[in-house]
Amino acid sequence: MVSRSRKSPEKQSGTVLLGKYELGRRLGVGSFAKVHVARSISTGELVAMKIIDKKKTIDSGMEPRIIREIEAMRRLQNHPNVLKIHEVMATKSKIYLVVEYAAGGELFEKLVRYGRLNESAARRYFQQLASALSFCHRDGIVHRDVKPQNLLLDKEGNLKVSDFGLSALPEHRSCNGLLHTACGTPAYTAPEVIAQRGYDGAKADAWSCGVFLFVLLAGYVPFDDANIVAMYRKIRKREYRFPSWISKQARSIIFKLLDPNPETRMSVDDVIETAWFQKSLEVRSDVVELDRFLEKEAKTNNVVTAFDLISLSSGLDLSGLLVGRMRKEKRFTAKVSADGVVEKAEMIGEKLGFRVEKKDEAKVVGLGKGRTAVVVEVLELAEGLVVAEVKVADGEEEEEETHWSELIVEFEEIVLSWHN
Ligand code: AMP
Repeated sequence: MVSRSRKSPEKQSGTVLLGKYELGRRLGVGSFAKVHVARSISTGELVAMKIIDKKKTIDSGMEPRIIREIEAMRRLQNHPNVLKIHEVMATKSKIYLVVEYAAGGELFEKLVRYGRLNESAARRYFQQLASALSFCHRDGIVHRDVKPQNLLLDKEGNLKVSDFGLSALPEHRSCNGLLHTACGTPAYTAPEVIAQRGYDGAKADAWSCGVFLFVLLAGYVPFDDANIVAMYRKIRKREYRFPSWISKQARSIIFKLLDPNPETRMSVDDVIETAWFQKSLEVRSDVVELDRFLEKEAKTNNVVTAFDLISLSSGLDLSGLLVGRMRKEKRFTAKVSADGVVEKAEMIGEKLGFRVEKKDEAKVVGLGKGRTAVVVEVLELAEGLVVAEVKVADGEEEEEETHWSELIVEFEEIVLSWHN
């Protein structure tokens, strides 16, 4: 039983939960849980307590996700870099998930504060992440949501991969062994996941490892653009720049992990075999305690900017919000071919009395009415995968509003899914 109190337990530090744990300060809030530090009354051990509101989760259809998280974590107890789950308790209204306490907090919070890492420190975290993921993959479990908030540190500075809430167990695969749920964080997500096509989850995790290593060494994310079509284009063309200080060997690994084609992409197991990865793998005793190390590093490195901070912590680029009025724009994955989208755009334009201008060399259609100019740009990312962007290029706010509304609904017929 939760101790008698009118206040909800998570509001009250010192509350004893189910006679077993004394609740401490709040550590964070996730998508479906509040997380507190807690102390076991019998052993005195510190743990992290995830408090999940049953009603909210059932209402929002989150229960399967929680059950998945618990199942996945239970199967992965024996790896030092996977966050351990101690026990699960429940009352009528709440689920209490008792997990290992990562006293060092989020790795990326420290990165944002102190800047990028040198190669041997970066390699150490990368080794720990790859080793945890390889262990999971062997068991048929993929994480699918490797991102800054899910990478925690214990008090010795060891990486702990947490939040298997989005991970997929083998039984969640479709019959061809591919996964279909689009999830993850844009800046860390493999292109085939963003595209919402069936994908191999282990290869999607390998992509996230590539982004992770790049971020550790560079101090910023490799692909970053407010415009998702432009971001796709950069990903497909492997358009990112290595800062001068990243070594040749590390570049080669990042390049092979950030291969937009999952079939040719390096796997996590392949990366483990490389000489760069194997270097100083056994050396554990000379590992510098993280906080002291980062403080030293901060003095010699550039500190990341506010934009990097936004990208690192949320996977979103909000820079567009800072440049004057936001023009209307929408993007979608199309049901039809690239030519089909171009034809549809021309037809819509003619039907609604827009001036229609097509640029022959590119799959771009310009539509004009009054002072409003709209551009439709179509991109074939891979065979059968077409993404289009409809964007106001010029116009006055009021007039633009009317023309935009009548135009955008007409595309619905050829839209497979809209993007944010
Ligand atoms: P989550 O619901 O797992 O996304 O957790 C939300 C936030 O709580 C995380 O981003 C961490 O900052 C913090 N947190 C979660 N689990 C732990 C843990 N085991 N130890 C320390 N902090 C945690």
